[in-house]
Amino acid sequence: MAKKKENIEEKYGMKKESMWLALKKKEIKEAMKFAEDYKNFLKEVKTEREAVEFMVKEAEKRGFKNLRKAKTLSVGDKFYIENRGKSLALGVVGKKPYEGFRLVVSHIDSPRMDLKPNPLVEDHDAALALLKTHYYGGIKKYHWVSRPLALHGVVYTKEGKRIDIKVGDNPGDPVFVIPDLLPHLARKAQGDRKLFEGIKGEELQLVVGNIPVEDKEVKNKVKAYILKYLNEKYGIVEEDFNSADIEIVPAEEPRDVGFDRSMIGAYGQDDRICAYTSFRAILEVDNPTYTSIAFFYDKEEIGSDGNVGAQSNFLEYVLAKVTSLLNPRYTHVEFLEMLYKTKAISADVSAAINPLFKGVHDIPNAAKAGYGVVISKYTGHGGKYGASEATAEFMSEIRALLSKHHIPYQVAELGKVDEGGGGTIAKFFAQYGMDVVDIGPGLIGMHSPFEIASKMDVWSAYRTYAAFLSQ
Ligand code: MN
Ligand code: MN
Repeated sequence: MAKKKENIEEKYGMKKESMWLALKKKEIKEAMKFAEDYKNFLKEVKTEREAVEFMVKEAEKRGFKNLRKAKTLSVGDKFYIENRGKSLALGVVGKKPYEGFRLVVSHIDSPRMDLKPNPLVEDHDAALALLKTHYYGGIKKYHWVSRPLALHGVVYTKEGKRIDIKVGDNPGDPVFVIPDLLPHLARKAQGDRKLFEGIKGEELQLVVGNIPVEDKEVKNKVKAYILKYLNEKYGIVEEDFNSADIEIVPAEEPRDVGFDRSMIGAYGQDDRICAYTSFRAILEVDNPTYTSIAFFYDKEEIGSDGNVGAQSNFLEYVLAKVTSLLNPRYTHVEFLEMLYKTKAISADVSAAINPLFKGVHDIPNAAKAGYGVVISKYTGHGGKYGASEATAEFMSEIRALLSKHHIPYQVAELGKVDEGGGGTIAKFFAQYGMDVVDIGPGLIGMHSPFEIASKMDVWSAYRTYAAFLSQ
């Protein structure tokens, strides 16, 4: 009898399969349920401030205590600490608290537009009141025209009173819009421009009113009507916009994408997909070996600068605070050694293959929707420039961890060599000597107002962060 010929490819080759086939029915059901929770989160939370508020509220319900008020800490304690309402850390003290931390670090800001400090103007020719904006992060400006937009944020009066503004999301709310030019008249005005300049920065102005006040003395009658409305509704005056953080975000809700409802389309999935999945993961961590902390940062989309970004000393402060509450006599050298032993996941999104623009990817090294979370050994651009590259040793450790937990994953790059590139906050953590690797789901249409993620990849990310933080 002839011996059965062995399949060499099967024996030595890499096997990757869609998670829709690889997972058991029961787990797919759990993943679909998780996706509903995630969609609700995205519906509620469209800004960094809203993310912090949402997470603190949920964490408090689950016994996380405010680290700023804590006098001591002991093994098993759950804590949170926020930074100016815009970044946050949630953690659980491990059984070996001096052996280094396990960190998952994501960001909760997303590309958008912000109101300028003096935003309200009237265009007499058009008889409209407008709000002027300054865009935030890497947007394609033409994505933001002729679509319903919402305002989210806070205004502080000179007296220090905080007023919350959130308008445009509820079905009964008014929305705001940046009107695109009709094609009939756009041939020269826009047709001769390059795509990225189809709409220019100063053209990102929201239409917010058309009714004039009935007063002959008033020059800007439509603007005056809006000022009167804002004062009656929110108790603010024009100058209060000087002390405000107001963000303009898409007004739409997250939706299922596809006949098979396999994907989620929503604004802000970069990087709230990683924020939500790591948030759920840290909530479920109990008595880990190492102290586990999930960090959620603001300002990643504009370079991680500032006092709420990943380049601030918030990380050092939190880790030092946790350590000193466990043992006030801990020395600085011991602390630095602990940072060196720390292991971290920089939880940020990657790009999944867009079927319309496959040319930007090197297919064997590109991520596919539904094939699991993407591990990026390095990011950067133009010859790995600006990357924090994970070592082969750490990559091996991560592969072992995911295999142990039967979590499907893929290892990929963002795009072709020299095609472009992007960075993450991994490098700001690597500076402390810790091992860091980038892991997050691939998105299609990243940085657009309606980014797409496979529900399988959401699930894979959640399970990856949970396995890592529960070590
Ligand atoms: Mn990101
Ligand atoms: Mn981004």
